[in-house]
Amino acid sequence: MTRAVPALPPTFRALRALKDEAGLRTEFQTLTPANLPPGDAVVRVTHSSVNYKDGLAVAGRPGVLKSLPMTPGIDLAGEVVTDETGTYTPGTPVVLTGWGIGERQDGGYAEYARVRSEWLVAIPGELSAEWAMGVGTAGFTAMLAVLALEDHGMTPGQGEVLVTGAAGGVGSTAVALLAAAGFTVTASTGRPQEEAYLRSLGATNIIGREELPLLKRSLEKERWAGVVDTVGGEALAGAYASTRTHGSLAVCGLAGGHQLQTTVFPLILRGVNLLGIDSVTCPAPRRRTAWDRLARDLPPVKLAPLIRIHPLEDVPALAEEILAGQVRGRVVIKVA
Ligand code: NDP
Repeated sequence: MTRAVPALPPTFRALRALKDEAGLRTEFQTLTPANLPPGDAVVRVTHSSVNYKDGLAVAGRPGVLKSLPMTPGIDLAGEVVTDETGTYTPGTPVVLTGWGIGERQDGGYAEYARVRSEWLVAIPGELSAEWAMGVGTAGFTAMLAVLALEDHGMTPGQGEVLVTGAAGGVGSTAVALLAAAGFTVTASTGRPQEEAYLRSLGATNIIGREELPLLKRSLEKERWAGVVDTVGGEALAGAYASTRTHGSLAVCGLAGGHQLQTTVFPLILRGVNLLGIDSVTCPAPRRRTAWDRLARDLPPVKLAPLIRIHPLEDVPALAEEILAGQVRGRVVIKVA
């Protein structure tokens, strides 16, 4: 069911990242449609979110924003205003994650976005833009990770599935999705105070970050049937050496480091699968599969404990918070 939405107005609000004599910084600006990048679809953005990458961009860390000025925000959800391709009628609720928005072209921290229609996914069923941004890139990535593990033969009953960085956005949604699919989840966290939260999401075992077996030998005692890793570095190297024969690791992130010092032995002696997850360039059919499964396994009632909602004004402070590893679960931004 769709309804008419207002036309693109002459001015609208955006949080912009820019560089001037004061250095890299963000400020609220009033933009006009002429400021929007090229594209064949216009979306009225009602919600966005804060991911780790957004934290880096808004805090002025180099590497995420490829040009300036730029509207950060790698996620957006809202309703279609116009679509020159005819794929979506005005008013259709849509979600867009990745494809370089908030990195290479303007992203979700503005009331309107002009994008490529082929990047959009219709929000499944009767679900809302708030739900879609409660999931966001982090939850979508967790879903891709679970799908990758399942595609490589992981089924419930094979043993423990480890989630690292479990209290973060990708980690929390991975715990909830794995539990919903019947897996036994072991959540690794550096925040022992989040034990009750992680158990409420469905984790069976909680282990401290420091308890994760770090790599001492090429092959450690076999423990994990599968792994969703958001941390990288030593934690990933240790998990990889402890993954069971024919088990798989879905490698999502680098919150703890981008290095991976290891050997080929788990690959060639245990047939372990080291699987890369890239949510940004994920092809459209896989996106739709992932969003449909998210709608089934992470409905609003299950997502609610993971999310908190903030206005756009709070994004700069939230950026610092997520970089400090202090954000629990997912942060939804109400844009309009
Ligand atoms: P969050 O900040 O929400 O979560 C990261 C979690 O990692 C933290 O909550 C914390 O979990 C843990 N952590 C933080 N710092 C360290 C550290 N120094 N050592 C060990 N663990 C640490 O971020 P997101 O969930 O949004 O993103 C997680 C990672 O996944 C990031 O690296 C991000 O860039 C990446 N990512 C990749 C995507 C892809 O397509 N491949 C898409 C989305 C994200 P706890 O407190 O429980 O220990």
